[in-house]
Amino acid sequence: MNQKPVLDEKSMSSQLQSHHELEEELKNIKSILSVAQVVVSSLDLDEVLQNILFSAMSLIDVPAGSIALYDRVRNEVDIQVHFGFSDKFISKSYWRVKPGGLTHTILNEGKIFVINDTHDAPYFNNPLALNEGIRSLIAIPLKIQDSIIGILYLDDFVPRKFAESKLHLLSIVTSFATMSIDNARMHEQMRLQASTDGLTGLYNHRQFVELFDREMSRAKRFRVPLSLLMIDVDRFKLFNDKYGHPVGDEVLIQVARLIRDTVREVDLSFRYGGEEFIALLPETDLASARPVAERIRRIIEENAVASISVVPNMPVTVSIGVASYPRNGTSCETLLKAVDDLMYQAKSQGRNLVVHPPKK
Ligand code: GH3
Ligand code: MG
Ligand code: MG
Repeated sequence: MNQKPVLDEKSMSSQLQSHHELEEELKNIKSILSVAQVVVSSLDLDEVLQNILFSAMSLIDVPAGSIALYDRVRNEVDIQVHFGFSDKFISKSYWRVKPGGLTHTILNEGKIFVINDTHDAPYFNNPLALNEGIRSLIAIPLKIQDSIIGILYLDDFVPRKFAESKLHLLSIVTSFATMSIDNARMHEQMRLQASTDGLTGLYNHRQFVELFDREMSRAKRFRVPLSLLMIDVDRFKLFNDKYGHPVGDEVLIQVARLIRDTVREVDLSFRYGGEEFIALLPETDLASARPVAERIRRIIEENAVASISVVPNMPVTVSIGVASYPRNGTSCETLLKAVDDLMYQAKSQGRNLVVHPPKK
C-alpha cells in the first residue's frame, strides 16, 4: 500500500522556518569564520585593528566606525583606527574619560551599548560627535578576561534599529578580535625589548646595525646626505670607580635622555656600547650635523649632573666625532671607522670636544 506522508500546513511551515533558521545560522558561522581568519592573519597591531574594524563594519553594514584603545593609567581613550569620518572629527584622536559620559558608562558596565537615535540619548553629548551627524551607534567594549582594553564603535548617520541576532554575532567576533589585539601587543612588546637597551631605552647595538644599513641604502637611493655622531662619556671608568656602578648607571640614563631630547624626532639614537652612544641624522650634511653635535656636548656638560642628587658637583662630559655620507665615507664600514677615529681624536685633544673632518 502506498502511504503518503501526511504533512499539514502547520508542520510544513515550521519545517520551512527551521530550515530558514539553519541557513541563517550557517551564514552566521561562515561570517564568524571568515572574520576570524582575517583577524588572526597578522601580528601587526595596526593591521589587526584595521581588519577588526572593517570586518565588524561589514557585518553590521554601517558607513563609519573606529577602534579606541583605553589607557588605564592616563584614563584616556585613543582612537587607533577609523573609517568614514571627517578630518575634523578625527583630529582630536584621544580624550579623557569623563565621569557620567558615554565612554565612562561603557567602561564601567562592560557591556555592548546601543543607541538607536542619538537625539533621544541625552548622555550622547560630545559636541564633535553631534556635529559629525552620528545618529546611531553600537559601542562594544574589547575585553581581555575582565579588563577592558578598548572600545569598538560602529556608527551610522541615520537612526537605526540594530538586529538582536547581529549584536550577538558581533559580541562573538569581538571576543576573539580582542585576543588578536592582545597577541599583537605582546609581539610588539617583545620586538621592542629585542631592539632597545634595557637601561636607557635607546635602540641597542643590534638595532643600530640594522637601521644604519637601512638609512645608508636610503641615502644612496635618494642621493641625500646622512650624518653620524659617535658620543663617548669622558673618564667614565673613574666615575664608576669613585661613586659606584649604580650611580654610573644613572649617569648613562641621563646622558641618553639628553641626547634623545636634543636631536630631531626623525633622528635615531642608540646605545652603541657601555658608555658609547650614536646618533644617526638622516638627510643631514656635515655642516648641519656639527652644530647638533656641539649642542649635545654643551647640554650634557651643563645638565648631566644637575639631576643626579647623590653627586652634586661631578662634571659629566662627552667627546664626539662627527662624519657624513658621502663626504667622509661611502659605506657603513668606512663611515663608522671615520667617526670612531674622530671621536678618539677628541679624546687625545683633551676631551669634552667635538671633532669633525677638516673642511676641504
Ligand atoms: P675615556 O674618557 O677615554 O672614554 O675614558 P673611560 O673611562 O670613559 O673609558 P673606558 O672605555 O676605559 O671605560 C668605560 C667604562 O664604562 C668601563 C665600564 O666599567 C663602564 N661601563 C660600561 N657599561 C656600563 C654600564 O652599563 N653601567 C656602568 N655603570 N658602567 C658601565
Ligand atoms: Mg669613555
Ligand atoms: Mg668608550
